[in-house]
Amino acid sequence: MMEPSTHALFRDDPYLKEAAASVLAVNERGGVILDRTIFYATSGGQPGDTGYFERADGSRVEIAATVTGQTKDEIIHVPAPDQPALAPGESLRISIDWPRRYLLMRMHTACHLLTVVCPYPITGAAVSPDDSRVDFDIPDASLGKEEATQKLMELVRADHPVFIRQISDADLAANPGLVKSKNVRPPQGTGSIRLVCIGDEGLIDSQPCGGTHVGRTSEIGEIHIGKIEKKGRENRRFRLRFGPLPVA
Ligand SMILES: [Zn+2]
Repeated sequence: MMEPSTHALFRDDPYLKEAAASVLAVNERGGVILDRTIFYATSGGQPGDTGYFERADGSRVEIAATVTGQTKDEIIHVPAPDQPALAPGESLRISIDWPRRYLLMRMHTACHLLTVVCPYPITGAAVSPDDSRVDFDIPDASLGKEEATQKLMELVRADHPVFIRQISDADLAANPGLVKSKNVRPPQGTGSIRLVCIGDEGLIDSQPCGGTHVGRTSEIGEIHIGKIEKKGRENRRFRLRFGPLPVA
């Protein structure tokens, strides 16, 4: 079944905490599809948003998760158990759990900076509000957590701008170095690819990404590499945490 399409407001403004929306459809499992949303759906290592919908009578429907459907453009809001059923056409005020989302935006942006500090092919990544990980193929494992933390914090303190630029499939094909992920290729054929750029002209970093990020690197705040785990002969898992590097 072709799902109706949702305007993903968070793509242009990741700082929206609430918005007006109306119900387009409710799927057979109770998942809610809206005409527009600020809820990010789980994708690319970033978990989907939680929050609530407020109905015209002031009552709430708690949203426990947001997931994608058949395609990444299908955004399905999953109500918590025992919530009242919504009907197509119903108008709502929608709100995300902003403190949680902001932690995810800060962490996710920090993961981009980590790929600058550690410029090797990425084999996996997962963002969470208190701990994130990025896995790299590293031929030479000399980068320690103290040095990596120091370099990360230099990029955070430099307060670089973070912005979105759309490029064509042909532009991406002409610049294969933009793709840092070893196994995951950005979706092609839609005519346009969303590039997340850091620094003036994107000179610090530019890579395809569909997630939500902060607008300046200083918003990330204090962050450190908690652990570097050996996952294979040439694979290392870097764990990112908030706060200063604990004194050994
Ligand atoms: Zn990203």
